[in-house]
Order: sequence, then structure tokens, then C-alpha cells
Amino acid sequence: MRARYVDAGRAKQLEALGIQRVGDLLHHAPHRYLDLTSTAQLGVVQPGEATVVGTVYEVVKRITRGRGGKRLTITEVTLVDGTGTLIGVWFNQPWVEATYKKGQTLAFSGDIKYRSGLKQIIQPFVEKIADEATNAPSQQDASNTEGRHMGKVLPVHGTTEGLSVGWLRRLVAAALDDYAQVSEYLPASIVQERELAPYSWALRNLHFPAHLEGAQLARKRLAYGELLDLQLLIARRRYRMTREAVGHAHKPFGSLHQSLVEKLPFALTEDQNQAVNEILDDMASQHPMQRLLLGDVGTGKTVVAAHALTVAADSGGQATMMAPTEVLAQQYANKLGPLFDDMGLSWGLLTGSTTPADREVLLQQLAAGEIKILFGTHALLEDDVQFQQMTLAVVDEQHRFGVQQRKSLHAKGESADVLVMSATPIPRTLTLTAFGDLAASYLRQRPIAGAGITTKKIKFSKIADAYDAIHAAVNEGRQAYIVCALVEESSKIEAQSAVQMMEELAAGEFSNCKVEVLTGRMKPAEKAQIMNQFRAGKIDILVSTTVIEVGVDVHNATVMMVLDADRYGLAQLHQLRGRVGRGKHSGEVWLVSDSFSEAAKERFAALLETDDGFRLAELDLKQRGAGELLGTRQSGIAKLKVADLTKDEDLIEAARQDAFALIADDPKLEADECALLRVRIDALEDKYETWKVAG
Ligand code: ADP
Ligand code: MG
Repeated sequence: MRARYVDAGRAKQLEALGIQRVGDLLHHAPHRYLDLTSTAQLGVVQPGEATVVGTVYEVVKRITRGRGGKRLTITEVTLVDGTGTLIGVWFNQPWVEATYKKGQTLAFSGDIKYRSGLKQIIQPFVEKIADEATNAPSQQDASNTEGRHMGKVLPVHGTTEGLSVGWLRRLVAAALDDYAQVSEYLPASIVQERELAPYSWALRNLHFPAHLEGAQLARKRLAYGELLDLQLLIARRRYRMTREAVGHAHKPFGSLHQSLVEKLPFALTEDQNQAVNEILDDMASQHPMQRLLLGDVGTGKTVVAAHALTVAADSGGQATMMAPTEVLAQQYANKLGPLFDDMGLSWGLLTGSTTPADREVLLQQLAAGEIKILFGTHALLEDDVQFQQMTLAVVDEQHRFGVQQRKSLHAKGESADVLVMSATPIPRTLTLTAFGDLAASYLRQRPIAGAGITTKKIKFSKIADAYDAIHAAVNEGRQAYIVCALVEESSKIEAQSAVQMMEELAAGEFSNCKVEVLTGRMKPAEKAQIMNQFRAGKIDILVSTTVIEVGVDVHNATVMMVLDADRYGLAQLHQLRGRVGRGKHSGEVWLVSDSFSEAAKERFAALLETDDGFRLAELDLKQRGAGELLGTRQSGIAKLKVADLTKDEDLIEAARQDAFALIADDPKLEADECALLRVRIDALEDKYETWKVAG
């Protein structure tokens, strides 16, 4: 922030709020408003959300014993207005007592409830209406006059330690006076069609609306603006990748492809067929494919990818299929390798545990074009891994790879077609934004319905029930997973240690079973060996960290116990439990947790209620925000200040439609009405370099 407004100390505090320039400040949307345009009298106001104004009659602090005999401080501030009274109640916030004084005029905002015949609000949001000057955060308050807030809608901005709501509000007001006369940069046609408020009006009304509807309209305009920026970046990038860039025009329906279709022991599902068609259309085009294949574990993505791999080989190219873990890469090789051998299609597997000798031979064959398909992990990104001509890259769970890794993969082939697969259900709003530069294909049905799963949530005191279920399964020749959170004891988080757990269980409860451990810290070769043994049924119980999370597919494993289940996100728990019950034996999942947190309870309730990965993903997004799901695809999205990915689906759709239409007509935004927009988008593109990165 400019020194003109704030000193260095304040600037630092503002930075903590993501505010570095005046523009950031103007887009710092209030998280709530205090509507003082028409406040109800205390005697008349009804229970529910409301804002009321009154004079402080008394401030009382009491100490009592709460649940479990714990000391509880209760502070009560009673407001009166001649028609009635209302009490604000705070728990364990003793500072409240010194903050408010008899005689002050306060506005309370919150949820009014009746308790013992009295109206009260638990922890209301409070605004001092009169007598504010005695608590002045700065000199400017001297100008305050009694009741100057009345009849207004007051913005409540998010603040940080040391910054008062009042100070920030005045700063915003000053900045608005100087800067809000900005020109409209949106094309007039869009403003008209979407019925958007003018830019400068919106900036003012976001903060100081005359009424709440004004704030809504302002928010809509600014959120749309942010989303249009983002969608224009996406649309441009997609235009460059799929219209301007020239890659390989693959030829579908060649002999290897036909041979695959004949050798597969089943027909594709409708979803799979559609996905294959979409992929083959993209591959046949001379422009590079940029496509996302979305489907829960077990929906048959591997088989769909296999079609693409054979088409690449048929067209004289090479293809690679990259997984985030060695276990998964190995699994591809196990599934598709024998099929490809049978078809006479040469393939290789390159991971961190490939021996140097094997690796050398592999690299030679790869460079000579003798190996057509290469499965692997990020080990295949190393510089000396050279293809003769790589024309297709399939990347699984791409968000687990960094930008740099994606760049390296892309550099292996010239304008190669890219197919990104994900078993992580992605909410629609993220598909349209974070993954918005990829066309999406969906697999919603499972080809093998599976016997299904039941999910149960128990406390640690009931863990014997889960043990019994594991014993019962093992006795019937089935297998089980025990999932625990950390590999080594951590003093910070008292989670179960997989290794210690394994030793205890192997020696005690499950001494009659074969128990092994799989952790993220083990060497890849060790992991692969354990997984192979588990797959072969030589291990009864696999104690594991979340390395089994993605993709592992062992139909004979039917029971899963997740310890400290509250430590996992919803999407993660859903993925974990997807490991069982997919075959002909039904699965049981035991979530063990002693947590009482509301968020954890909500997650468990959702998991017990639905098996729909997309619905769970929406909830996960609401609970945890976009960060976890996005990985390296955050840039641009993290910058959204007004728009909200959990709420603005309609606006996202609108902005996307408009942006793609604009770019399709006028890729460089050369039309007169786009002049200001073009400058803006060019600058943003320079700022978020990643949007220029391919793949
Ligand atoms: P994903 O990669 O999406 O987790 P897979 O491709 O591994 O799923 O498929 C899961 C299982 O379903 C595999 O055993 C696979 O052979 C089988 N499968 C895939 N497609 C079909 C189909 N159309 N009909 C019957 N079985 C199928
Ligand atoms: Mg192509």
C-alpha cells in the first residue's frame, strides 16, 4: 500500500489480508453487513437473524461450572430501548466485560433466541453506534458524531490482529473517494446481456451500499468480473493449445486398436464408449488433445486409456502412461502388459526401482522406437529418458505432479496429445475453473457393480467389533486393510504409527494372521513386493498409511479399518473405502475415531449417507476450500476475492460461456469494445505465468 494511506506497520498488517495495492483494498469484500436502515425495536423483534440497536443497561460477568465441571466465564451485555430488552451472551471471553460500558449505544447482529423468556443473541456481532470516540483506534474518530451510523448499511470487513473493523472501514472509504471513478472495462454487450452493475458503482456499493440489495448487485458484478478474467485466461490458453498449436493427427481404428477391442473380455460400458470416442476425436485432430477423464476408482479408466495407447502406436508414435506412485504404475503394467504382449505391442515399465542395467536397455529400446508404450512414475521424467517420437501422454492423478514435472513430461514429445485421468471426484465448479482448460469426459457407471460396502463409524472403545470383522473375513479367506495416519511417532500429532501398530497387532490381536506394513517411506521396490504379495493373497492384513489411497485394486480385500478417521478429508476417506467391496464380495469399512469436532461429524454423516463421489466432493470443497484439490492448479483461482467457488456456480457458467464466445470470435480481443479488457487480460497473463505452461 502507498505511504499516502498507511505507514509501514499498517502496510504489513494489510498484507496479511492479501492487500498490497489500492485495487486489492477495493476488492476486499465485506464478509457481512450490518443493516441499520431499519432496526426493529427490542420489544417487537422476533427470533431469527436480525440487527437491533439499544443502550447498554448493564454488563455482568459470572463464573460457573459448565459441562464436565469445567470453569465457564459468562459475560452478559443487556440492551434496552424503552420497548424491551435483549441480552448479548459471550462464553469464555472475559475481555468483553471491559469493552462495553453502561450508557453506550450498541448495535447487535446475530441470531435472536428466547431463553427463559428473555431475548438473547449468543456472541452477537457488535458495532458501537455512539460513544465510539472513547475507544478510538485513530485520530480520525474525533469527527465521529452520535449515531452517525444509523440509517446506513455498515460493511464488516475481514481484519487481522491489530486492525480494527472501524479503521479498515475508514481506509476503504478514503480509497474509494480517490479511486473508485474507474472506467468500465467490460464490453457493453456483456454488461447489458448479464444485467451487470457498472464497475465504479459496484466498487462503492460493495462497501457502502444504500441497502442490502445494492451490496448483492455489487457483489455479483465484481464476482462476475473476476470469473471472466479467469475464464478468458483459460479460454485463450485452450485456444492456443487446441486451435493454434499443431500436433499429431492420429489414426484411430488401426490394427492394434482393433486387436485390443477383440481381445478385451468384455464390451465397454456406454460411458466408456463415449469417453473413448471423445478421446479418439481429439487424437485424430491435428491439434493437441487436452482432455480430462474423470471417474471414481473402478469405473474403468485404465481400459479407456488403453484404447488411446493403441491408437498412438497404430499411428507410428509412442505413448507413455504416468502414475503418481510406483504401486499404481506397477498395477498398470500388470493389467495391460499381458494384453499388450498378446497383441504383439511392445511395452516397458520405468520406475525408481528399475535396476540400472534394465534401465539402460529400456532407454535404448525407447530411443530406437522399439518400445511403443512406457508405463512409469516420475522416474520417466529424467532427462536421459528419450523417446523416438512420443505422441501421447496419459497422466494419472495429475494434481499430484508439480508444474515443473508437467513441463518435463510435455517436453518429451512435440505437441503430444495429453490425457489427464483422475479418480478424485472434482466438483463441477472446479472442473470449470481449475481444470477449465481441459475438455472433460466422465465415467459415472461402474462396469462391475460390486457387492457394495457398508460404512460404520465407531469409537476406539468399540474397536473389538472391527477386529472381529477382520477375523471373520480372514477366516473366510478374505483380506483386510488397516489404515493409520503417520509413519513415525510425531510429538505434534498423536496419530497411530503404522509400524508400531503392525508390530503390536502382529504379536497380539492378529498373531494367527500374516500381517505386513506398507508406508510411504518404504523403498519403491519394497512397496511393490508387499503389494504383489497382498495381491497374491499371501498377506492377510495390510497395515498401511494412505499410499493405498489411489487406484489399488485387490478384489479379495473386503474389510477396511481406518484409525483416527477424523484426520482425513472427505474425498480421501471416500477414495480409501473404494478399495473394498468392488468385487463379488461385499465390503465393510470401519471408521474409528473419538473426535467430537463438528466438521468430522459432518464428514462421517455424509459418508454413511451416500456413495456418490461427486456429492461428497462438493461437500469437501465447502468444508476445506479448494486448496487441497487443486495442488499446482491454484494460480489465478487463489486470487479470487469476491467470487466463491462453493456458491457461484451460475456465475462461473455465465463467465465461462461469455469468455469462450469472445475468444472464439476474436482470439486476440481486437474488437473496439474489448480494448480495455485486452490490456487487463494481457497483464494478468504475464502475472500468472503458469497459464502459459502447457499440460
Ligand atoms: P479404474 O482405472 O478407473 O480404477 P479399471 O480400469 O482398473 O478402473 O477397471 C476396474 C475393473 O473393471 C478392472 O478389473 C477392469 O478389468 C474392469 N472393467 C473395466 N471396464 C469393464 C467393462 N466394460 N466391463 C467389465 N469389466 C470392466
Ligand atoms: Mg491429436
